[in-house]
Amino acid sequence: MKKILLATNNSHKVDEISHILKDLGYEVLARDQVYKGDFDVEENAPDLKGNALLKAQALSNLVGSKYLVLADDTGLFVDALKGEPGVHSARYAGDQHNDEDNKKKLLQELKEVNEGARTAAFITVLALVQEGKAPVFIEGRLEGHIALEEKGSAGFGYDPLFIPKDYERSLGQMSPEEKNQISHRHKALEKLALYLQGAKTNED
Ligand code: IMP
Repeated sequence: MKKILLATNNSHKVDEISHILKDLGYEVLARDQVYKGDFDVEENAPDLKGNALLKAQALSNLVGSKYLVLADDTGLFVDALKGEPGVHSARYAGDQHNDEDNKKKLLQELKEVNEGARTAAFITVLALVQEGKAPVFIEGRLEGHIALEEKGSAGFGYDPLFIPKDYERSLGQMSPEEKNQISHRHKALEKLALYLQGAKTNED
């Protein structure tokens, strides 16, 4: 079975990615199944692609050419804020990485912006790295708008504030299954599956 090593130990991401790739004959490994040392990558690139690459490359350098390494980076891009919080989504309200403070700051920044002008998109970039090969980047996107107030409490991060296009409910009002069907991360992973299928076919 082919293996894909994730640059994260986040069990939610490991499960989601395993679920999508297992039918393609890939075993998905969390970082600490292969590498147990410190892994503290400073995500200081100017964009999602750069940060995903920093993480995938750092782990690939540690584990060598035997593993295909996958890293992801996600951000919420709000048009009325010129794309902020974007690459800074996790630490929008400061370095303490607090979802509550981030949501509060976003509502505050948008308080003069009416509902029709609060368009935004979640974007996920995946970077796939294998020593000796060119990195591959894959993007998934979910369009929508920022609600006037929080709705629901499911999910994480900015979910209660994000209303996907053609929906009236926020991601925070959806079950994990419903969110997974439309999410930016899921779209990126579906594209990754297609890419890997193509890559497999080319090798066969
Ligand atoms: P990461 O790159 O997956 O760590 O995501 C960076 C930040 O974006 C997180 O800390 C969250 O604030 C936000 N974020 C990422 N994915 C989602 C999502 O699916 N829903 C809501 N917020 C998200």
